[in-house]
Amino acid sequence: MRFQQVCLRSTKLVLSLLHITVACVCVGGSVLAQQSSAVSAAGGRTLVRVGHLLDVTTGAEPAEQTIVVTGDRITAIAASSAVAAGPGDKVIDLSKFTVLPGLIDVHTHLTNANNFDPYFELSMTPAKEAILGVENAKVTLEAGFTTVRNVGANSFTDVALRDEINAGHIPGPHMQVSGPPLGITGGHMDQNLLPEEYHVQGQGVADGIPAVQHMVRENIKYGADLIKIGATGGVLSKGDDPQASQYTLEEMQAIVADAHRLGRKVAAHAHGAQGILWATEAGVDSIEHGSYLDEAGIAAMKAHGTYLVPTAYLVDWMQQYGNLPPIYQQKMKDVSAVEKKNAIRAIKAGVKIALGTDAAVYPHGLNAHEIDVYVNQFGMTPLEGIRTGTVNAADLMGWSDRVGSITPGKWADLIAVEGDPLKDVRILQQVPFVMKSGVVYKDLTERR
Ligand SMILES: [Zn+2]
Repeated sequence: MRFQQVCLRSTKLVLSLLHITVACVCVGGSVLAQQSSAVSAAGGRTLVRVGHLLDVTTGAEPAEQTIVVTGDRITAIAASSAVAAGPGDKVIDLSKFTVLPGLIDVHTHLTNANNFDPYFELSMTPAKEAILGVENAKVTLEAGFTTVRNVGANSFTDVALRDEINAGHIPGPHMQVSGPPLGITGGHMDQNLLPEEYHVQGQGVADGIPAVQHMVRENIKYGADLIKIGATGGVLSKGDDPQASQYTLEEMQAIVADAHRLGRKVAAHAHGAQGILWATEAGVDSIEHGSYLDEAGIAAMKAHGTYLVPTAYLVDWMQQYGNLPPIYQQKMKDVSAVEKKNAIRAIKAGVKIALGTDAAVYPHGLNAHEIDVYVNQFGMTPLEGIRTGTVNAADLMGWSDRVGSITPGKWADLIAVEGDPLKDVRILQQVPFVMKSGVVYKDLTERR
C-alpha cells in the first residue's frame, strides 16, 4: 500500500516533467527507417539538430548532423542539410552542442543511500530502499547516465524499480538488475553487524554448490537480469577481509555455469588477488573493484576476456569527503593505497575496462567523475575514457544492439554537452540535455 502511494506521487512528478518538455517529445511509431544520405520527411519524427555528433566508435565528430528519432529508436543520421522537417515532425535544436550517446554505469546501487552508519544500515527496509531508488534513478538519469547495471539490492527493490521505470511510471535509466548479491556466510554480502541471537543474514547468502545453484535460480525467478557475487571480502562490511577469497573456485564455477546456461552474466565483487583469479578462471564476466589485482590475475583476465570495473573515483571522494565509521576506515585506507596503481597496470596490459562507479558509496549523480579519473589519472585518451562508459559497458552488458553508440536501430539515448568532450571529459559532469528512448528528461540548453 505504501509503495503504491510512492508510485502515484512519482507518476505526478514525471507527468509534470513531461509537461515541461512536451514540445520536444515525440511519440511516434516504431518502424525503423533505413539510413540514407537524404532522409525523406515522413512526419511524426523528432529531428535532433546537433552542432557536433561524437561517434564513439571512431572518434569522429562531424558537424551539423541530424539524428532522426522515431518512437524510442534512432532511425537515421545524416547531414542536417539533407534532412528537412516534414509536417508533424518535432525539431530539437542542439546546434550549439556536442551530442554523444547516453552514458552507462555498470556498477550502481540505486536503492542505497550514501550513509554507512551501522544503525542506519540496520534500520533500512524494503520500502525505504524502494523510495531511495526512485529518487536516485532520477538523479542518475539527469546526470546523463541513461543505462545502469545495478549490482546488489535487497528484497528485489531493484526489480521493482526497473519495472516501474520501464512502465513509464517514474523517470530513470534503462536498468539491468541483480537482486540480492550472492555471498558466503559471514562474508561481504552477509549482514554481520548484530550478534548471533538476532539471527540476521544477508538475503543472498548461500554456501556450497547446491545452495549457490538454488540462489542463482531463485534470483532469476524473481527478476534478476544478472548475478552478482562476492568473490572476496569487502570494505563496507564488518569482520571480513578484502584480501581473503570467500567463494571457492568450485562454488563460483557452479554459479557461472548456471547463470550462463540461463542467459545471465556474472559480476564478481573481488578485491583480493586469489579471489580475482578464481572468479576469472570460473568464467565471470566482470571483476568489480580489482584492488589487489596481480600479474596472474591480469593474465587470466586477458585470456578470458574478462572486464575490469575499477570503481576508482570513490577513492578520491572518500579521501576528500569520506566520514566512514571506524570499523571500515582501515580497510578503505588499505584498498585505496593499491587500487589505482593496479588498475593502471591492468589498463597498460590491455585488460578491457567498463565504467563502474559504486555510486551510493558517494552521492548518486557524480558518476561521470569516473571518466575523469580514467583519463587524467590512468592515462586513457578522452575517447578511450568515454568508450568505457559507452561501447565497452554496452558490450559487458550484452546490450551492444541497443545502447552505447548513436546508431540507427538503437534506443534514442542522447546527451548533449557544451564544448568538446574529446578535449576535456570533465564537461561530462555538467550535462544540460538528456534524452532516453526518444523522451527528453532534462533540457537546460535554453539557459546556456
Ligand atoms: Zn558495489
